Amino acid sequence: MENFEMNMNLSNDSEMKKHYLRFTEQLSDWYSNEKTPELAGQDTGFALKLQKEKLQSMGLDVQKQINKSKEGDDAVSSLSYSDNVFENTNISGDKLITTSISDSQKEIYSRSAECGLSIVMQNPKQGGIPSPDTAMCCPHCGAPSTLGKLESGCDYCDTKFLMDELYPKVMNFFVYEKIKDYYDQKPMKKYILSFSLFFLVVCIGQMIFNAASGKIDFLRLLFEGVGYLFGSVFAGVIFGVGAWFIAGTFGTVKSFGKSARGVGKAGKSLVFCYKMQKIDPTFSTEYFRDKSVSLLKLMIYSKNPQELTVCKCDKPIPDKIREIVDVTYYNSGVDRYSINNGVCDVSVTFYTDDLHYHDGRIYNKSDKIRMSLRKVIKKPTDLGFSVMAVTCPSCGASFDAEKVKNCPYCGNPYPIEENDWVVTDIEI
Ligand SMILES: [Zn+2]
Ligand SMILES: [Zn+2]
Repeated sequence: MENFEMNMNLSNDSEMKKHYLRFTEQLSDWYSNEKTPELAGQDTGFALKLQKEKLQSMGLDVQKQINKSKEGDDAVSSLSYSDNVFENTNISGDKLITTSISDSQKEIYSRSAECGLSIVMQNPKQGGIPSPDTAMCCPHCGAPSTLGKLESGCDYCDTKFLMDELYPKVMNFFVYEKIKDYYDQKPMKKYILSFSLFFLVVCIGQMIFNAASGKIDFLRLLFEGVGYLFGSVFAGVIFGVGAWFIAGTFGTVKSFGKSARGVGKAGKSLVFCYKMQKIDPTFSTEYFRDKSVSLLKLMIYSKNPQELTVCKCDKPIPDKIREIVDVTYYNSGVDRYSINNGVCDVSVTFYTDDLHYHDGRIYNKSDKIRMSLRKVIKKPTDLGFSVMAVTCPSCGASFDAEKVKNCPYCGNPYPIEENDWVVTDIEI
C-alpha cells in the first residue's frame, strides 16, 4: 500500500484554479474553432476528436459554451491520488454550459444548464521523476514518442521539450448537471394564493347560502365576511406552505433519485476496489472510475468502436449506443467481477443522461449502460499509460496503438490487455 496516497484539498489553491480555468477556456475553444486543447492529455484529446468525427459523419455540429456560473461562485476544490511517479488531481468547479447542436446550419437542439465540471489533472509527483521510457505523443507534431526522446528532440520534428512543458496534462473531464433548487420561493406564493382563494370561495358560498336562507342580519354578515376573509388567508398560508413543502420534497427526492442512481452498487464497487488494491497497490476507486469513463467515451464517441484496439467485443455494438452524440455521466457501479489466473473481468453499470440522434431529431434520455472490462493484472497500474503512444515489448519501438493491433515495426501483436483495460461487451 506504500505506493498509493490520497490527499484532500478543499482550499482554493490558486495554481489549481489557474489550470482549471485555462482548461475550461481551451475546451470552449475546441468546440467553437477546433483548436486542440493544449492541456488535454492524449486520451482526452482523442475522445474529443472522435466525438467531432462521429458528429460530422452524421452531418451534425455540436457547440458548447462554458461560461461563469450565475448561481455559484468561481471557487474550485481538489482531491489528489498518486502512485510513486504521478499525482492525479481531481479539480471541480461550477460552470454555466450551453450545448447546441445543429444539422446543416439549422439548430435542432439547445440547452443551458448550471453544471459541475471536474477535470483530472496529472503531474509528476514531487521528487518523483517519470521514466524516460514513459510513452507520450509529441505536443508539436503528434508523433508517438517517449518522454526521454521528447526531452532530447522529437524523432520527427526535432522539437525539444522541458518536463514542465509536457505536464500537467488533463487525463479526463466530467460534466454533470446540478440539482435545481426545488425549495424555490415563487411557487410557495402561488400555493398560498390558490389555497386562500379556494377558502374564500367556499366562505362566500356559505355566506350566500346563509343570506338566501333568510337570516339577513347585516352586522353579523359583515363580521362573518371579515372573519372569513382573514380565515381564508390564514388557512391558505397553512395549506399553501404545506403543499409547497410536499411538492418541494417530492421534487427534490425525484432529482436526488437521478444522481443517486447506482448508489446501491457502492458496496460491491468498494469490495472490488479493495480486492484489486491488495493485488495492485496503485489501483484506486478514483483511478478505476476515470479509466472506465474514459473507455466509455471512446466506445460512444467512435464512429466504428470495433476498430479501436481497446474494443474486444464479439457482439455487434447496439444501435442505441451508436445514436448517442453527447454523454453526461452521473454515476457508475460494479455489478460483478472475477479474478482468475491473473486476469480480472469486471462488469460496470453507468448511469448517464445522453443526447440521442434519431430520425433527424435530438432526444434527451436517461440511460443505463452496461460495459464489461478485462485486464491482465500481473503488473501494477501505470497511471502514465496512454494507448496513443505505446512501446513495443518485442522491439522497443513507439507507436500509436489506438487503431493498430500489431507493432508496425516488427509485426508482433501488441499485448494491450497487459497494460490497459479492454472492453469485452457493451449493452444499453
Ligand atoms: Zn514532433
Ligand atoms: Zn515491435
